[in-house]
Amino acid sequence: MPTQILKAYKVRLYPNDEQQVFFAKSFGCTRFIWNKMLNDKIEHYKKTKTELKNTPAQYKKEFEWLKEVDSLALANVQQQLRGAYNKFFKQGSGFPNFKKKGIKDSYTTNNQKGTVAITDSTVKLPKIGHIKAKFPAKIKGLIKSATVSKDPTGKYFVSLLVETIINELPKTQSNIGIDLGLTDFIVLSDGSKVANPKFLSKLQDKLAREQKILAKRREVAKADQRKLSESRNYQKQKLKVAKVYEKITNIRKDFLHKLSFNLIKNHDVIAIEDLNVKGMVKNRKLAKAISDSSWSAFTTMLAYKAEWYGKTLVKIDRWYPSSKTCSGCGHLLTKAELPLSVRTWNCPSCLQENDRDLNASINILNEGLRLATIKTVGTTGLA
Ligand SMILES: [Zn+2]
Repeated sequence: MPTQILKAYKVRLYPNDEQQVFFAKSFGCTRFIWNKMLNDKIEHYKKTKTELKNTPAQYKKEFEWLKEVDSLALANVQQQLRGAYNKFFKQGSGFPNFKKKGIKDSYTTNNQKGTVAITDSTVKLPKIGHIKAKFPAKIKGLIKSATVSKDPTGKYFVSLLVETIINELPKTQSNIGIDLGLTDFIVLSDGSKVANPKFLSKLQDKLAREQKILAKRREVAKADQRKLSESRNYQKQKLKVAKVYEKITNIRKDFLHKLSFNLIKNHDVIAIEDLNVKGMVKNRKLAKAISDSSWSAFTTMLAYKAEWYGKTLVKIDRWYPSSKTCSGCGHLLTKAELPLSVRTWNCPSCLQENDRDLNASINILNEGLRLATIKTVGTTGLA
């Protein structure tokens, strides 16, 4: 069954000088209107205890230069601000923050009958026309919106949201359980293990070294009573840190995309533990391993890809004792009987030798299949 999805493509842009000025202006205007509208809302609330319904259009008289940028970019700020308010009131997120220059510089516009379009080597945007671009993949489908951004290393990107039709992947009659490994990224119930990408730990060491140098330069600037923005050595090092960080992020993302796709392609039911990553990161011993392995990004990818491609992802309750249960006979060890340091154990009941992670992934698969069956029977019963 084909499904219609919204897929985001991140496209590198190579704007000329004039286009860079336009982008800088657009980032500045969207940041200004966000901060202005937010500030006015706060002040209005202080006085009247009611919410101010302000729009970007009403500021254009007073601040004429707002007319120089794409009006949809400003309209989208209003939407984003409304979204941030909703999150604050309904989901208990933090109160919307004021935006600072140079941090997450971006603006979003929409395609209105071809105002956003692509050629083989350019992206066309409202008010600015064609910008030289390099595409990561062939883009097919209707472009809905475009978000232009500039990263800390000075590169420009546009993220295109495209309506795409995708076809479900064929069923394989194979199911898999996944356990989050500590030394490996994941351990699978078929006995295989997937290591973290090579170079990643080396790059992480490099990042730590460069961050130390950055901290030292901050101290030196402070001691000399110079502003950080005027300290050339500090700024040079800051860029260096941003570049290493970007490299790590890209390698990791690429790794997680390929891995999640292959698991979805090769299996019908994929069972994973619904780990509370926030809670686990507090535990110092596990912190590095967990944040390194980007577990939550991985499970998010598995979830949406399962939906796209017609497969089933089952999340197992995080209190399910996947490690402490013997996958051979179901015997349950006590917490004291299985400290974190024990990597293999012999079941006192059936004598099976259990590799800690493999045993857990088999239990996760079995529990996942049990839950998937209940779900299927449940829905069939309703139909
Ligand atoms: Zn046993």
